[in-house]
Amino acid sequence: MKDYTVDDLRRIARPRLGDKIPLELFRILRIIGMREILGDSSGAALYMIGKKVGNMIGADDIDSFKSRITELKIGIPEVEILDDDHLVVKLYECITCAGFSYTGEMFCDMESGIIAGMLEKVYNKKARSTQKKSWTAGYNYCEFHILLY
Ligand SMILES: [Zn+2]
Repeated sequence: MKDYTVDDLRRIARPRLGDKIPLELFRILRIIGMREILGDSSGAALYMIGKKVGNMIGADDIDSFKSRITELKIGIPEVEILDDDHLVVKLYECITCAGFSYTGEMFCDMESGIIAGMLEKVYNKKARSTQKKSWTAGYNYCEFHILLY
Protein backbone atom coordinates (compact mmCIF):
# COMPACT_ATOMS: atom_id res chain seq x y z
CA MET A 1 0.00 0.00 0.00
CA LYS A 2 1.38 3.39 -0.98
CA ASP A 3 1.67 6.38 1.33
CA TYR A 4 0.11 9.59 0.06
CA THR A 5 0.80 13.13 1.19
CA VAL A 6 -1.53 16.09 1.71
CA ASP A 7 -0.08 17.52 -1.53
CA ASP A 8 -1.19 14.39 -3.45
CA LEU A 9 -4.74 14.92 -2.19
CA ARG A 10 -4.76 18.59 -3.19
CA ARG A 11 -4.61 17.68 -6.88
CA ILE A 12 -8.31 17.99 -7.69
CA ALA A 13 -9.58 17.96 -11.30
CA ARG A 14 -13.29 18.69 -11.03
CA PRO A 15 -13.92 21.71 -13.27
CA ARG A 16 -17.71 21.41 -13.02
CA LEU A 17 -18.18 20.14 -9.44
CA GLY A 18 -15.28 21.93 -7.73
CA ASP A 19 -13.58 20.97 -4.48
CA LYS A 20 -16.57 21.11 -2.09
CA ILE A 21 -18.88 18.25 -1.10
CA PRO A 22 -22.18 18.40 0.78
CA LEU A 23 -21.75 18.01 4.53
CA GLU A 24 -24.56 15.46 4.43
CA LEU A 25 -22.35 13.14 2.33
CA PHE A 26 -19.41 13.57 4.72
CA ARG A 27 -21.66 12.72 7.65
CA ILE A 28 -23.00 9.60 5.92
CA LEU A 29 -19.42 8.41 5.39
CA ARG A 30 -18.27 9.50 8.83
CA ILE A 31 -21.17 8.68 11.15
CA ILE A 32 -22.79 5.76 9.36
CA GLY A 33 -20.14 4.25 7.05
CA MET A 34 -17.09 4.35 9.31
CA ARG A 35 -18.92 3.50 12.52
CA GLU A 36 -20.75 0.54 10.99
CA ILE A 37 -17.64 -0.92 9.36
CA LEU A 38 -15.46 -0.40 12.42
CA GLY A 39 -18.13 -1.53 14.92
CA ASP A 40 -17.43 -1.38 18.64
CA SER A 41 -13.82 -0.33 18.06
CA SER A 42 -14.88 2.66 15.94
CA GLY A 43 -14.12 5.23 18.66
CA ALA A 44 -10.50 4.19 19.12
CA ALA A 45 -9.95 3.60 15.40
CA LEU A 46 -11.43 6.96 14.40
CA TYR A 47 -9.30 8.68 17.04
CA MET A 48 -6.17 7.05 15.58
CA ILE A 49 -7.22 8.07 12.06
CA GLY A 50 -7.76 11.62 13.31
CA LYS A 51 -4.36 11.67 15.00
CA LYS A 52 -2.66 10.70 11.74
CA VAL A 53 -4.70 13.32 9.86
CA GLY A 54 -3.84 15.98 12.46
CA ASN A 55 -0.13 15.13 12.26
CA MET A 56 -0.29 15.45 8.45
CA ILE A 57 -2.13 18.79 8.54
CA GLY A 58 0.16 20.09 11.30
CA ALA A 59 0.39 23.62 12.71
CA ASP A 60 3.25 25.89 13.78
CA ASP A 61 1.49 27.68 16.63
CA ILE A 62 -1.95 28.14 18.19
CA ASP A 63 -2.94 30.81 15.66
CA SER A 64 -2.16 28.53 12.70
CA PHE A 65 -3.90 25.65 14.52
CA LYS A 66 -7.06 27.77 14.76
CA SER A 67 -6.88 29.05 11.19
CA ARG A 68 -6.25 25.56 9.69
CA ILE A 69 -9.19 24.04 11.63
CA THR A 70 -11.41 26.87 10.39
CA GLU A 71 -10.11 26.80 6.76
CA LEU A 72 -10.71 23.04 6.56
CA LYS A 73 -14.19 23.67 8.00
CA ILE A 74 -13.68 21.13 10.76
CA GLY A 75 -15.23 23.77 13.02
CA ILE A 76 -14.54 27.11 14.66
CA PRO A 77 -12.14 26.53 17.57
CA GLU A 78 -11.69 28.50 20.76
CA VAL A 79 -8.57 27.57 22.71
CA GLU A 80 -8.07 28.03 26.44
CA ILE A 81 -4.54 27.28 27.68
CA LEU A 82 -4.85 26.15 31.31
CA ASP A 83 -1.16 25.51 32.03
CA ASP A 84 1.95 24.05 30.33
CA ASP A 85 0.31 20.64 29.82
CA HIS A 86 -3.43 21.24 29.63
CA LEU A 87 -5.66 22.95 27.08
CA VAL A 88 -9.38 23.09 26.46
CA VAL A 89 -10.58 23.37 22.86
CA LYS A 90 -14.18 24.33 22.27
CA LEU A 91 -15.26 23.55 18.71
CA TYR A 92 -18.24 25.49 17.42
CA GLU A 93 -20.01 24.30 14.24
CA CYS A 94 -18.33 20.87 14.54
CA ILE A 95 -18.17 19.11 11.15
CA THR A 96 -19.63 15.91 12.59
CA CYS A 97 -22.13 16.82 15.29
CA ALA A 98 -23.30 20.45 14.97
CA GLY A 99 -27.08 20.40 14.82
CA PHE A 100 -27.32 16.70 15.70
CA SER A 101 -30.11 15.74 18.05
CA TYR A 102 -29.54 14.59 21.61
CA THR A 103 -28.50 10.93 21.72
CA GLY A 104 -26.50 10.83 24.95
CA GLU A 105 -23.57 9.35 23.01
CA MET A 106 -20.53 11.41 21.93
CA PHE A 107 -18.81 10.31 18.74
CA CYS A 108 -16.46 13.08 17.55
CA ASP A 109 -13.50 10.76 18.04
CA MET A 110 -11.91 11.62 14.70
CA GLU A 111 -12.13 15.36 15.39
CA SER A 112 -10.68 14.74 18.85
CA GLY A 113 -7.75 12.92 17.23
CA ILE A 114 -7.25 15.64 14.60
CA ILE A 115 -7.00 18.26 17.36
CA ALA A 116 -4.53 16.12 19.34
CA GLY A 117 -2.46 15.40 16.22
CA MET A 118 -2.22 19.06 15.25
CA LEU A 119 -1.36 20.16 18.81
CA GLU A 120 1.45 17.58 18.87
CA LYS A 121 3.02 19.52 16.01
CA VAL A 122 2.46 22.88 17.76
CA TYR A 123 4.06 21.78 21.03
CA ASN A 124 6.45 19.05 19.85
CA LYS A 125 5.02 16.78 22.54
CA LYS A 126 2.59 13.88 22.59
CA ALA A 127 -1.03 14.91 23.05
CA ARG A 128 -4.12 13.06 24.23
CA SER A 129 -7.55 14.57 23.67
CA THR A 130 -10.75 13.55 25.44
CA GLN A 131 -14.16 14.70 24.31
CA LYS A 132 -16.20 16.18 27.16
CA LYS A 133 -19.13 17.88 25.42
CA SER A 134 -21.07 17.56 22.18
CA TRP A 135 -24.33 18.51 20.49
CA THR A 136 -25.32 14.87 21.01
CA ALA A 137 -24.88 15.35 24.77
CA GLY A 138 -26.95 18.51 25.01
CA TYR A 139 -24.47 21.33 24.22
CA ASN A 140 -24.29 23.65 21.22
CA TYR A 141 -20.55 23.08 20.76
CA CYS A 142 -18.00 20.29 21.15
CA GLU A 143 -15.36 20.43 23.86
CA PHE A 144 -12.08 18.55 24.07
CA HIS A 145 -9.66 18.40 26.99
CA ILE A 146 -6.04 18.04 25.91
CA LEU A 147 -3.13 16.64 27.90
CA LEU A 148 0.38 17.27 26.57
CA TYR A 149 3.04 14.83 27.76
ZN1 LIG B 1 -18.55 17.35 17.37
